[in-house]
Amino acid sequence: GRSVHQIQSGQVIVDLNSVVKELVENSLDAGATSIDVRFKNQGLDSVEVQDNGKGISPEDYETVALKHHTSKLASYDDLTTLDTFGFRGEALSSLCALSKFHILTARSEDGAVGKRLDFDISGKLKSTTVAAAQKGTTVSVDEIFYNLPVRRKELEKNSKREYVKVLSLLHAYACISVGVRFSVSNQMPKGKKIAVFSTKSNTTTKENIVNIYGAKTLLALSRLDLSLDMAPGDGLGTQSARNCSTQVTDRSPGIRIEGHISRPVFGDGRQAPDRQMFFVNSRPCLLPQVSKAINEVYKSFNTSQSPFIFANLIMDTNSYDVNVSPDKRTIMLHDQTALLESLKTALTKMFDQTDH
Ligand code: ADP
Ligand code: MG
Repeated sequence: GRSVHQIQSGQVIVDLNSVVKELVENSLDAGATSIDVRFKNQGLDSVEVQDNGKGISPEDYETVALKHHTSKLASYDDLTTLDTFGFRGEALSSLCALSKFHILTARSEDGAVGKRLDFDISGKLKSTTVAAAQKGTTVSVDEIFYNLPVRRKELEKNSKREYVKVLSLLHAYACISVGVRFSVSNQMPKGKKIAVFSTKSNTTTKENIVNIYGAKTLLALSRLDLSLDMAPGDGLGTQSARNCSTQVTDRSPGIRIEGHISRPVFGDGRQAPDRQMFFVNSRPCLLPQVSKAINEVYKSFNTSQSPFIFANLIMDTNSYDVNVSPDKRTIMLHDQTALLESLKTALTKMFDQTDH
């Protein structure tokens, strides 16, 4: 039969996207300034994420892949302040249950000598072997879902679409992660290794966008920098906010939206790619409601294109919930109606003022 651990793991790691998300977030958490993501057969055969972060200490080898073991909670306080997108020590343990998994890691103290860590299906350390390694960590996830035939079939069937989704997610991480070099490659079974995209260690999100989408994209973009004042009494959707918010008296101070958006254009060719990336406090996430609102404003300018959007919502951690979708990428905003109205007004004003 299937173990409880396996079943629970299947709720954390639901698809290729969640594999990549968890590994990249671990690399970022480890302070990496360089992240290489290597796919084989678009992730079906293997996903490998290599970083130059702080590495794993020998005293953590035994526990690193055990369930609910995390090095990221220092005190009780952290439980509320820590970003709630993660799974608190569940990703590696789940990957042990659902894939052929191993880790290669070295710390700066260790020189070029690293360790290869192998685990059993429950995340228990099976063996530690000396291996050549650069400073940092490489996590290898081979044959994801090899032991869940139905899910494996499903993944194989939707492989192309899943891979496209994963690349979009990686674009989002690479765009937002200023100061981190990303490099993504793929190798098909009988083919050569192909560079998919890469960014340099840039100091602005703008340069990241140029690396990924090309310099031409910039010509079509405007800087997005909106401060939406959500305080009560400003006349912006207060009534509707009251209907959807549970804490009317304890309102969030406001939201800033930073990023880049393409101006509505009318066939002059300066078109940006049809891409939409949303972030909350710099974490990639899905915001279908915000996307819809922006698209509506865009349409009101009588253009048939859909906008390029890179939008980072900077707001208080009390003004949203993340426990909406299983992979925790869709989040729910409190005061959503008020926010969307206020966003539409601000964006319309911004486009009215731009020479498009
Ligand atoms: P969480 O990220 O919630 O702590 P994970 O299962 O993703 O749980 O990771 C477990 C632990 O493994 C982390 O707390 C961290 O100590 C360690 N770890 C995972 N990936 C890396 C990495 N790339 N570099 C350094 N340490 C890592
Ligand atoms: Mg993690």
